[in-house]
Amino acid sequence: MFRHEEQPQARYVSIPRNEHNISRKDISENALKVLYRLNKQGYEAYLVGGCIRDLLLGKKPKDFDITTNATPEQIQKIFRNCRLVGRRFRLAHIMFGKEIIEVATFRGEHDDQNAQTNICKRSQSGMLLRDNVYGTIEQDAMRRDFTMNALYYDVKDFTLRDYCHGLQDLKNGIIRLIGDPQTRYREDPVRMLRTVRFAAKLNMNIEPSTAQPIKALAPLLKNIPSARLFDESLKLLQTGYGFKTYSLLREYHLFEQLFPIIERLFTQNHNSNLDKIIEQVLKNTDYRISNNQRVNPAFLFAVFFWYPIMEQTQLTCVESGLQFHDSFSMAINDVLSEQCRIIAIPRRLTSIMGDIWRLQLRMKKREGKRAFAILEHPKFRAAYDLLEMRASIEKGELLDLAKWWDEFQYAPVEKRIAMVKQLSKTNRRKVKR
Ligand code: ATP
Ligand code: MG
Repeated sequence: MFRHEEQPQARYVSIPRNEHNISRKDISENALKVLYRLNKQGYEAYLVGGCIRDLLLGKKPKDFDITTNATPEQIQKIFRNCRLVGRRFRLAHIMFGKEIIEVATFRGEHDDQNAQTNICKRSQSGMLLRDNVYGTIEQDAMRRDFTMNALYYDVKDFTLRDYCHGLQDLKNGIIRLIGDPQTRYREDPVRMLRTVRFAAKLNMNIEPSTAQPIKALAPLLKNIPSARLFDESLKLLQTGYGFKTYSLLREYHLFEQLFPIIERLFTQNHNSNLDKIIEQVLKNTDYRISNNQRVNPAFLFAVFFWYPIMEQTQLTCVESGLQFHDSFSMAINDVLSEQCRIIAIPRRLTSIMGDIWRLQLRMKKREGKRAFAILEHPKFRAAYDLLEMRASIEKGELLDLAKWWDEFQYAPVEKRIAMVKQLSKTNRRKVKR
């Protein structure tokens, strides 16, 4: 049975090695090196967070996070390959080639005294703008988001420490915020996104009081820097559980905060072209990830915003009397600039998205040398994939166009030349008639 140990400030459950399934061979060697070195220098150090949660669930952890009572500066003195990062949270990154082991100092509690100081700062809505108060492991556990994320592994004796009944929640498949949910979401509204992300990824239930405040507090996401929301949006949509996560984001009114341009065009019964294409691209993305195929966020976002751009183009045509092509370019600019204020999609991606969109128009005109030039375009394949999705949704002429491009791209050169010639003939006949 579990051994209860009395601590000066908090009680935790200690789970010995023979009562849990975490083995050293499942832990990154680099993470072990960091733990051993910190211990050797006289510091406490534990594996914590997602890696422990995932190992307990029999999943492969994405990364290994460490927490310690050494300060970032003390950590830096011990490791040559160390870089200090972060402002809101100061952290040490220990670099081992491609692998980065993140080492955080135990977080402490913030009280009113240090609430407006250099080490800790809150905004009007209760959001923590800076959170660099260091503390004890007990305080650190209370500062974590979910009970299942507050489990600590001690490599000295291979025990697990459970401060918030996380193990029980993990076993029961319950996502539960530590502390008062309202306060915890106000401190960091991104926790609302993490709630639904873990619910989808781990196929777990959100405990009612953890779920309850989300709809009302969702607008607080407006206060989150757009660069952070870009990172979060990829974790939400491009890590293998995108469709399920998206459904939860909509259920909890979080999607409209991240993608208001899209939300505005959704229909009541979920059957618009936009509803359908988003569902399809997310399911395809999940499928590709489950097959270890590469995914590109530029394609995902290009699909997300295709119909909104078309809609905006029509509107600009009517309102400003501009030609279709000019309205289309304006629509691209308008949609991207509105969206990037919320989620900072980097330029290297928006430029690919622009290519994919413009190719949708170019792919309609195939005569002469055009089709051959389009085929050479580096983004042809992505553009074709979008065309095919649109065709499967819109049907009609678009189906013929997608079929033509499907044949053309795989045909030998002579056949391609013949296909283009055939097009010109058909077109001439159409004109005569
Ligand atoms: P994954 O890496 O699989 O996405 P994770 O739980 O490891 O999941 P990280 O972002 O790597 O997520 O964070 C590591 C740990 O830090 C978490 O398990 C949690 O204990 C703590 N944490 C992360 N973000 C927050 C937050 N916004 N508020 C409170 N604690 C957090
Ligand atoms: Mg992690």
